[in-house]
Amino acid sequence: MEHTQGIYTIQGIDVLDLAKQFGTPLYVYDGARIEQQIAKLKNAYAAADVKIKYAAKALTNISILKLMRKNSVGMEAVSLGEVHLALRAGYAPSEITFTPSGVDFSEIEEAVTLGLAINIDNLSTLQKFGARFGNTYPCGLRLNPNIMAGGNIKISTGHSNSKFGISVLQLSEILDLMKKYSIRISGLHIHTGSDIKETQAFLKTAEVLFEAANSFPDLRFLDFGSGFKVAYKEGDVVTDIQELGAKLTKAFNEFCNQYGRKLELWLEPGKFLVSESGTLLVQVNVVKLTPTVTFVGVNSGLNHLIRPMMYDAYHHIVNISNSTAPAKKYTVVGYICETDTFGSDRDLNEVREGDILAFKNAGAYGFSMASNYNSRPKPAEVLIVNGQAKLIREREKFEDLLKGQIEVDL
Ligand SMILES: *Cc1c(COP(=O)(O)O)cnc(C)c1O
Repeated sequence: MEHTQGIYTIQGIDVLDLAKQFGTPLYVYDGARIEQQIAKLKNAYAAADVKIKYAAKALTNISILKLMRKNSVGMEAVSLGEVHLALRAGYAPSEITFTPSGVDFSEIEEAVTLGLAINIDNLSTLQKFGARFGNTYPCGLRLNPNIMAGGNIKISTGHSNSKFGISVLQLSEILDLMKKYSIRISGLHIHTGSDIKETQAFLKTAEVLFEAANSFPDLRFLDFGSGFKVAYKEGDVVTDIQELGAKLTKAFNEFCNQYGRKLELWLEPGKFLVSESGTLLVQVNVVKLTPTVTFVGVNSGLNHLIRPMMYDAYHHIVNISNSTAPAKKYTVVGYICETDTFGSDRDLNEVREGDILAFKNAGAYGFSMASNYNSRPKPAEVLIVNGQAKLIREREKFEDLLKGQIEVDL
């Protein structure tokens, strides 16, 4: 979103016009911003054979998946639902990596039938996989590197008490199963968590991966996961992608030389690709003065954007309807009937009822975590490509709330 002379635009389109045309609450995604992020990542890792797999759970709209495919980005899926969306978006099964957490073995069997790349995340599944498929179908392993990193404990996945991956401390058990069933391990995967800002944490994880990799002779790829931190507010320290890319590809190429074969370097960014592309537009329902706080109540809530309440996430908020007025302090809250704060003590240009507010960086884990809590319909979604706004999801209606419900005679 650009801001000049009091007007907010995306690719030249006045954002207020979008709110008028499509209504609010509304998720708007800037396709060009997503393409910029893809280019930035490819550029930073250009020194290696890098394959970018978009972690679909961040923003799963099929038109977004198609945009990724158009930009030669592969797909990282954590459920068969995401897999089938990716197939519908035109992906070949081999371009989809399936990295589920603790799923029933039937899902792994379906992934084999479909022909996906699979990362197995526990010894019990690896044992079943070996017994069922032996050396007939290669698989990857999700390892737990035993490292604590990430912005919040809920999104830190690589520490020793995390449920994710097979601990690197259980390497000998992995090797026993591999030998017993002649399993072909084609790749090793590590995803340490989200919102990791220190380059050093990524490099430390990489070292763990390299060390483990020496025990696997059939590798084709090493998957370094994701977790790149993006700026949610001004001055936020973020992952230096250029520096990390340079250092990691260097270490990776050195490892490949020592390993004796060129491998592919896989990355699985979600947030990095889509977070900054997204804006949630809401309308101010009420301005409520209390003796201590001025609340701004908007026509959305944690049902549409749960990150502030769930992860203490900061989303920058701007009043795009009155952007030249003097700023005042406000606490912006949703309409859900429990504490539902988007931002406390924020400086906003004077807010009037009916104004449109924009929550920035709402592309990742925004709509994809939205619910119908309080029986509120989900927002519409709009994607802006080539200077044109395209509706990519209808606003839900009352009938959608009843869908699937069975009214019995009582
Ligand atoms: C969620 C997830 C990602 C993406 O994480 P971001 O922080 O959004 O980049 C990547 N890989 C796996 C396996 C994941 O579960």
